[in-house]
Amino acid sequence: MPSRTLTLTFSSLFFFALAAASIPDPRLAPILFPLYGFLFLWMGLRQERELPFVFLFLVSVTALLSASRLKSPWNREIFFELGALWFFQFSWGAYQNAILGSRRDREVKVNALRLKISEEEKDVEYYQSYRTKALSQIQNAQNLTASAKSLANTLSAAEVHDRLISILSSRFPSAQVEIVASPGKDPLLNFTQTRNAPTLIRDAWADKRFHELLSPYRSGLSIPLKVMRQPAGFLKITSKEPDAFGAEEAKAAELFVAMASMSLENIRFYEQVQAQSVRDPLTQLYSHRAFQTQLQEELLRAGRSQTPLSLIMMDIDHFKSYNDRYGHPAGDSLLKTVSAILNSFARPVDFAARYGGEEFCLILPNFVRTEAVEIANRLRLRVAAQPFFFNGEKSSVTISLGVASFPQDATTASQIIRVADERLYQAKHGGRNQVVG
Ligand code: GH3
Ligand code: MG
Ligand code: MG
Repeated sequence: MPSRTLTLTFSSLFFFALAAASIPDPRLAPILFPLYGFLFLWMGLRQERELPFVFLFLVSVTALLSASRLKSPWNREIFFELGALWFFQFSWGAYQNAILGSRRDREVKVNALRLKISEEEKDVEYYQSYRTKALSQIQNAQNLTASAKSLANTLSAAEVHDRLISILSSRFPSAQVEIVASPGKDPLLNFTQTRNAPTLIRDAWADKRFHELLSPYRSGLSIPLKVMRQPAGFLKITSKEPDAFGAEEAKAAELFVAMASMSLENIRFYEQVQAQSVRDPLTQLYSHRAFQTQLQEELLRAGRSQTPLSLIMMDIDHFKSYNDRYGHPAGDSLLKTVSAILNSFARPVDFAARYGGEEFCLILPNFVRTEAVEIANRLRLRVAAQPFFFNGEKSSVTISLGVASFPQDATTASQIIRVADERLYQAKHGGRNQVVG
């Protein structure tokens, strides 16, 4: 039985029992009347708020009926007792209201706090997931920076390849990473070469293009390598598992390939700059700097092995007039031809260099002075016999040469240069187109 019904039943039974008890003798009413107080007390304890007023009305009616049947002062007694009941009920009601009111306030506050807590919890959850994401992004960025540094920190192309392979191998532990120079018969690499773009195969067995070729791998990723826009092989990553790589992995691999390409380009540039400082850009002969270094090394070697060494210094005669007459570009072209002739006289062990402007040197290890003078004369005749054409006009040039030798004339680099230069000067004064040695 629900508690409301229970209260109503018992209250009604109690009320009717009391009311019935006072019917036979109205003088019992003032004695029984206070017992109604228990009824209201009980309903109050059971938290009833409207029911007591219904009974208060019923009890008031009973009081009126009983009072009408009684004489004074008993009827006054009844009204007094009824007044006490009303007072009790209203005080109790006010008290309940105050308690309930404060309880309701508390509940409202508690609910508001609960709402706030749940909102805060949601915020905390959001920030935690954000933090995890941010941390993993930072970690990725750090890995990327470390990889970029490792790729850029080398001047050897082979090492860039090794590092690229090791970075990608650690990123795709179950895959095979390799750098392949040419596509050969590999269907994946051929496909990549034809399209000239990265290729991703999620499952070779399910892919019509690769299924027929029965590839030994199931997933494949291939990226063309380029250095200075020129093809430089392929990066190939394969796995025996299907779906080993997705678009994200392909993007990461492409990024590393781009970094490696940049490093390779830097290396290429570095090598070019190095080569340029060793070679003279116009004539492609060795530069003045390279000549100085080489001469010192050759002299040390000659000293150690007690072998001779000769140096020829040569200068084009009246080159200024040639320039003035035919122009600077024609002069450049002449310098190139004379350099080529000089180079053709150099054995593999010799060292031909452009000393400056229109002056050249030839280091001849193992040659004594007479042998070097002979070479110098042959060179002089060869240059003199060379026809030069400009705008249909034929011309020719001559050269003057000075020869000095180790150990006969000098023992150090600066000495041997000085002696050869003095003799070249003598050749000029002697009328040019001659060798002094
Ligand atoms: P000499 O017979 O006494 O050697 O007379 P020369 O005119 O050859 O001697 P000089 O040293 O007075 O002139 C050298 C000239 O070489 C001056 C310069 O214009 C020219 N020259 C130097 N370097 C280059 C070059 O790279 N290209 C061209 N076209 N000319 C150059
Ligand atoms: Mg000259
Ligand atoms: Mg000169």
